Amino acid sequence: MTSTGLTDLHLATAPLVRGELPGPRSADLLARQRQRESNARTYPRRLPIAPVEGHGSFVRDADGNVFLDFLAGAGVLSLGHNHPELVAAMTEQAGRLTHGLDFPTPAKDEFLTAQLSMLPPGLRERMKTHFCGPTGANAVEAAIKLCKTATGRAQVVSFQGGYHGCSHAAMALTGDVAQKAPVPGGMPEVHFFPYSYCSRCPLGLSPVTCETNCAGYLERALLDHNGGIPRPAAVLLELVQGEGGVVPATPEFVHRVRALTRELDVPLVVDEVQTGCGRTGTWFAFEQYGIEPDVIIASKALSGVGAPVSLIIYDRRLDVWQPGAHTGTFRGNQLAFAAGTAAVRIVRRDDVLGNVRARGRQLAARLSELDGHPWVREVRGRGLMWGVELADPVTGRPASAEAAAAQAMALREGLIIELGGRADAVVRLLPPLNVTAEVIDIAADILLGAILRALPSRGPAC
Ligand code: PLP
Repeated sequence: MTSTGLTDLHLATAPLVRGELPGPRSADLLARQRQRESNARTYPRRLPIAPVEGHGSFVRDADGNVFLDFLAGAGVLSLGHNHPELVAAMTEQAGRLTHGLDFPTPAKDEFLTAQLSMLPPGLRERMKTHFCGPTGANAVEAAIKLCKTATGRAQVVSFQGGYHGCSHAAMALTGDVAQKAPVPGGMPEVHFFPYSYCSRCPLGLSPVTCETNCAGYLERALLDHNGGIPRPAAVLLELVQGEGGVVPATPEFVHRVRALTRELDVPLVVDEVQTGCGRTGTWFAFEQYGIEPDVIIASKALSGVGAPVSLIIYDRRLDVWQPGAHTGTFRGNQLAFAAGTAAVRIVRRDDVLGNVRARGRQLAARLSELDGHPWVREVRGRGLMWGVELADPVTGRPASAEAAAAQAMALREGLIIELGGRADAVVRLLPPLNVTAEVIDIAADILLGAILRALPSRGPAC
């Protein structure tokens, strides 16, 4: 017991929700937030809790409820909440130096050595790095600026369903029209092409007639002298669309995009903000596709513990920037560097990537219990990034209300999960990468129960 009368969170083995949500203390904090923060706040609308303490896969709210956190700071907390070794690394660093602009420091040097050591051999020798403002969106901006500067070209190819952040250019590169529509005048010369989202083929084709026509469409458009798009500065790709509903690109699609961009000498930029740092079972997702990108964007889980940092890693031949070309005050977070170095050490020492693959298989096996349910369009994922897409079996309409109901029911039983995809009809899971087999089973029990209760048991009557 702690001085608050609550069991030590370190000892938690299962979630425990004591009453209605939000509890009174959380409700008070949520009300104060509503009054003082912008209407753009998001997570607390569907997950009405006020967290106060976290440990590993568990988080406790202001009312003493304990939740299993399968959102993990939107994929940031790769080693769970407050990993003690990462906290110790940050604490030690905090006594020495906390902020370093873009000066070289021992903490930064060790962090970069650790990061580069995680790249496949051959690639790591060719790459340079740039620290960006500490968000994924800022790194996306930097990557596109770099490619435009290096190629002297203006056009950028992005993919439908992709998510790259909320800043002006990152939003212009994002598929979600509702987010962009209220903000006129986004970055021009962005062209959206279909992504290999096979269960919802953007070209309306069936698996029989597919032939990866999404890649073919891009090839024909960019190779056609009358295709309307001058040679692009960059092609920006998520290997698994995360916010877009956990959609892994098919290998053939990725291979053909890589071959085309090589043929045209267009830099291929992979946005690994969500897929990076082990999330899909390899350090970066591109490794599983057997390709080498020209630019890698990383952020979320770089420090493993939520200390913000972002990085682009790019082929040296693109290194054309003049001094100060992409500057910013918060590019020298020494606490994030210290934690990130420790995180890489732990990932190696504890075979965290092996755990991601094993727990991913376990989760996939549990989620396969939903196979054949008429309202479950598809269960898909890689490593510890999974989604369950819900859709009306008759109309094909995204089952948004049912997904929201499943999320609310799961929360009531102590599991925090997120939604995403078209019309938020994909239930998404992003647990910590060091999650245990026992916790996966508890979460799967809650999740499957919540989804099955939220869905009509049969397809609607015709
Ligand atoms: N790119 C991808 C693939 C993301 O998933 C996200 C955030 O979810 C971003 C970019 C934007 O990152 P941030 O929210 O740190 O700006």
